[in-house]
Amino acid sequence: MSLAKLAGNTKIKQWLQQAIKLERLAGSLIFTGQSGVGKQTFALEFAKSLNCLHIDSEFNSCDKCSNCQRITTGQFADTRTITPDGQFIKVEQVRSVIDEVYYRPFEGNYRVYIFESAERMREQAANALLKTLEEPPSTSIIILITSSLDSLLPTIRSRTIKLYFTPLSASVLRNYLDNNYPRPEIEQKLLVSLAQGSIGRALSFDLAEYL
Ligand SMILES: [Zn+2]
Repeated sequence: MSLAKLAGNTKIKQWLQQAIKLERLAGSLIFTGQSGVGKQTFALEFAKSLNCLHIDSEFNSCDKCSNCQRITTGQFADTRTITPDGQFIKVEQVRSVIDEVYYRPFEGNYRVYIFESAERMREQAANALLKTLEEPPSTSIIILITSSLDSLLPTIRSRTIKLYFTPLSASVLRNYLDNNYPRPEIEQKLLVSLAQGSIGRALSFDLAEYL
């Protein structure tokens, strides 16, 4: 996978590629939109594009070098995904990011911190992150992922660039399924009709219940 191969949300893809090209990398971003439309995948591919050892002229990662492979498996020191610990993202988790975010990247070009389900950051944790979002270091990027933008504190929303992910069109979704999860025609059609533009949703169905 590379940015170019991601399904749907072409404008966001182009925006990210352009940001890398012009070296106008906003330190804090929000990826928002319904679940299953690729927000997490885009964030990881963006991290790869920033840190790949063999980037192409369109800023697509090679997906093969040691940096790309370790970002995929979660073992790259400069790319961390923070998920809720239990029900919430805790203030200690935020502090562990703040403790290292101002250091230069350990082994890559940029440190990338991806907060999944960022709406599950409680007020204390969100407030702890505010200053960093406001004055992000030039070699670190924080991405807040949420399907519930309104649940983030207004102060967080106002300090970050928001990228709005849209559901995939039926043809893009069909194409993605055909290329990655080939199935008989009738099953693919059914999945596309059930999925409401979400790859995650399409992959979560047990078709045996419907056929
Ligand atoms: Zn690479």
